[in-house]
Amino acid sequence: MLMLRNLMLTAANVPVVHDFVTDHPLGRQMAGRFVAGQDLDAAMAAVAELNRRGIQVSLDHLGENTSNAEEAAATARDYVAILDRIAATGAQANISIKLTALGLDIGEDVCLRNVRFVLAAACAHNIFVRLDMEGSAYTEPTLRLTHLLHAEFAGKSTVTGGVVGTVVQSMLYRTADDVAQLVADGIRVRLVKGAYREPPSVAFPNKFDVDENYRLLLHTLLRAGVYPAIATHDERLITEAQRFARQHDIAPARFEFQMLYGIRRDLQERLVQEGYNVRVYVPYGTQWYPYLSRRMAERPANLIFVMSNALRK
Ligand SMILES: Cc1cc2nc3c(=O)[nH]c(=O)nc-3n(C[C@H](O)[C@H](O)[C@H](O)COP(=O)(O)OP(=O)(O)OC[C@H]3O[C@@H](n4cnc5c(N)ncnc54)[C@H](O)[C@@H]3O)c2cc1C
Repeated sequence: MLMLRNLMLTAANVPVVHDFVTDHPLGRQMAGRFVAGQDLDAAMAAVAELNRRGIQVSLDHLGENTSNAEEAAATARDYVAILDRIAATGAQANISIKLTALGLDIGEDVCLRNVRFVLAAACAHNIFVRLDMEGSAYTEPTLRLTHLLHAEFAGKSTVTGGVVGTVVQSMLYRTADDVAQLVADGIRVRLVKGAYREPPSVAFPNKFDVDENYRLLLHTLLRAGVYPAIATHDERLITEAQRFARQHDIAPARFEFQMLYGIRRDLQERLVQEGYNVRVYVPYGTQWYPYLSRRMAERPANLIFVMSNALRK
């Protein structure tokens, strides 16, 4: 299963596949299922609709891996505008940002300058900022900058656990150690399985081990983490989180479930009805291809659906 996913992630980088998906109406239709629109107005409409259903949001303006310093600075300004908009509308939303969109490939100094600019605005509005986790080449710098910024911005907002937090991936061998350090520093963590193609030298090659590691890590985070986010659509793991929380008297208010826009809406609503905090990750923008290819690779049925419709036409 993970082999198939890796194959699909590799195929997604082939230019002809990229062009086919981005040019074909079905590719754009598929993107429409997972992406809330091209601009902030469309994304805010999706936020309002989710909030109406009792669901909170994390907004992601799609984009990653820029090597252009002006583009990275523009992305930071853009996120400040998003924060202003969230504050002005009173939306129940925070933001998720990718360090490679803010200049990490150019240099840590460039990236830090941009993230500090975003975090200063986030502190002014008391809105939490999540640093998404990208491929394993970025794990170390993302964690290092998270620890540094968490210390630097401590006490500058009233956000639970501080204005900045990050993400860990259960597919990586190193993650139990990373979680121990994040928990020790009181940093908010989102737990995911991991969406990137990784070699067996750094990541479990078998899905069973990724899932089992997720189970163990969610125990640690529920017991000792600051408002952890259990981000998965895997019902077995969601049920396990509920069971563990009940067994250890951890109130539902002390953690949240997170899911992706367009996936398992039924489960999102059921959890809200059961009294759990639910947050949906809402991506928007024109640079949807890398995000869409990760969603396709997670569930080849999505791709089969697109291809069979394309062939039928
Ligand atoms: C809120 C949120 C934020 C995330 N942030 C990051 C991040 O920062 N870094 C990172 O590497 N990864 C991130 N991810 C992605 C994550 O790593 C997984 O790739 C993704 O969540 C799929 O894994 P799963 O836990 O849902 O379990 P799986 O075992 O992959 O899926 C369980 C079930 O969920 C449903 N499902 C899962 N994916 C899809 C899909 N694409 N389409 C339709 N149904 C699907 C299916 O019913 C499937 O059987 C995030 C995920 C979420 C929910």
